[in-house]
Amino acid sequence: MGYLTKDSSEGINHCLACGDIIEYGMGRQDRKFCSPGCKNRYHNKRRAQSWERYQQKIQKTLEDNHKILSKLLQLGLTSIDLVSLGRLGYNFNYVTSYHKIGRRSLYSCYDITYEATPSRIFHLESHWDSGSGLETEEGAVSVPEELKQRGCAVSGDL
Ligand SMILES: [Zn+2]
Repeated sequence: MGYLTKDSSEGINHCLACGDIIEYGMGRQDRKFCSPGCKNRYHNKRRAQSWERYQQKIQKTLEDNHKILSKLLQLGLTSIDLVSLGRLGYNFNYVTSYHKIGRRSLYSCYDITYEATPSRIFHLESHWDSGSGLETEEGAVSVPEELKQRGCAVSGDL
């Protein structure tokens, strides 16, 4: 009586992990989790989600790059300057493999390989054999098993 009562939902916090009401007791009044276990679970999940998003972003970039290279091949092009390639949306930071053989720099984006100079890429080639490609489990690109498992994104410095 005489006190202003707060809305009953105010002052009650729910655990961000399990949704239970947090019992404050003597502890800090701004905790977001009901227990250390819930706090860990929540942060582990966040980390996993963030890693998944990161992976998906790289996967998408590689797929977009592959579409661009495929398109060039379809048009009968085996060479293009880096400025034009960049304008098409090509992302130079990700390739699926990179080899330096003598003075040659060989890159690949899944089945498509190319060589690069500081100003252009050339010798663009697809190594996908659609016959054998269809027999692979994914029914997608024919890349060596080892490469697939690494699913790697290697920084290329073009
Ligand atoms: Zn909880």
